[in-house]
Amino acid sequence: MISKLSIRDLEDVTYRGRVVFVRVDFNVPIKDGRITDDTRIRAALPTINYLRERGARLVLASHLGRPKGKVVPELSLKPVAERLSELLGIDVKFASDCVGEEVDRMKEELRDGDILVLENLRFHAEEKKNDPEFARALANGIDIYVNDAFGTAHRAHASTYGMAVHFDIRLAGLLMAREIEALSKVRENPDKPFVVVLGGAKVADKIEIIQNLMPKAEKFLIGGGMAYTFLKALGHKIGNSLLDEEHLNLVKGFMDESPDKFLLPIDHIATDKLEGGEVKELSERDIPDGWMGVDIGPKTIGLYRKALPEKGTIFWNGPMGVFEIEQFSRGTVEVAKAIAQVTQKGAYSVTGGGDTVSAIHKAGLKNSDFSHVSTGGGATLEFLAGKELPAIAVLSDKN
Ligand code: ADP
Ligand code: MG
Repeated sequence: MISKLSIRDLEDVTYRGRVVFVRVDFNVPIKDGRITDDTRIRAALPTINYLRERGARLVLASHLGRPKGKVVPELSLKPVAERLSELLGIDVKFASDCVGEEVDRMKEELRDGDILVLENLRFHAEEKKNDPEFARALANGIDIYVNDAFGTAHRAHASTYGMAVHFDIRLAGLLMAREIEALSKVRENPDKPFVVVLGGAKVADKIEIIQNLMPKAEKFLIGGGMAYTFLKALGHKIGNSLLDEEHLNLVKGFMDESPDKFLLPIDHIATDKLEGGEVKELSERDIPDGWMGVDIGPKTIGLYRKALPEKGTIFWNGPMGVFEIEQFSRGTVEVAKAIAQVTQKGAYSVTGGGDTVSAIHKAGLKNSDFSHVSTGGGATLEFLAGKELPAIAVLSDKN
């Protein structure tokens, strides 16, 4: 079980008067200079407040969007610094770059409890290249390194990896610590029964998760576009449904190895055209030519609901259908609700993925309806696939 040192593990006095760098995830959606969803900024507040209350001088750094190593004014973190000022009711300082003499001076001028937000790290191509000079410049004038950005933990960038090695102690922020705890529980010692619910479009994205969790999971409930590759592997007709030809044999192999582990849709919602086509409910596994499966049907919803344990562990990633279209969202919404219900009864539920989280909210559910909602996309999938994430590996071990 990986166990990393977090900001809570050091004594309170450690932080007073020290310049603490926190790699945060302020990658928020911005339209016309306005933040359209500040969830990620709010999510960072517990770590920020924890450190401020203990007298730290905070330097916050993040990427925003994909500026590709150039200054893109629309992707400035200035509006984020302003939003943070409003949320905290203090004057948050903003540096118009993330490295350099001016930034170093601003770091030196910080007082206990002050916050300095740096400009978008990815305005420098060196960030993603993990350039050693750039990493050193980021580390300038910093006493303590903290990473609270789980979403980029699968990347060895200057701010997530390169600069960390300049410090003897490298800490997880509160969000990062919670991600590590929840996801390692699922990956390493899930309470039984352990059920994995997988959907979404691409088999390729989830193959390694299946491989890694196969020995531990009792059941895999497969839905979404990926289900059709599984059905095809069993010899069913899938019409025009999504098919991942390339992974067909691998999928066959999974089911030959553990035929009882996989639950597949027994009925479908199908259409002849994704938008504006005819829609029908197919009460059998096979899908006729000219039709594509776009959601699991009502019998499958019932089957999957029954397969969810009231005690034990559930991991869910990937919508059960094309949930973006109302007509095809029922399977995803019902499965989300069913997972929330068993969570209330005592199951430990972890879910993650960009589309999965938006589907959860679309279903009218809150993050608190699940034991843990992971903020990572690729990072969450890689973690559960059993990979070592460089930004986590570089953090100090407990003990
Ligand atoms: P996440 O972002 O949560 O990891 P994915 O990106 O893997 O999820 O999958 C989400 C996408 O899968 C959505 O865009 C959804 O429309 C698509 N999808 C789900 N079911 C189907 C289906 N039956 N056919 C085509 N696309 C599907
Ligand atoms: Mg997605």
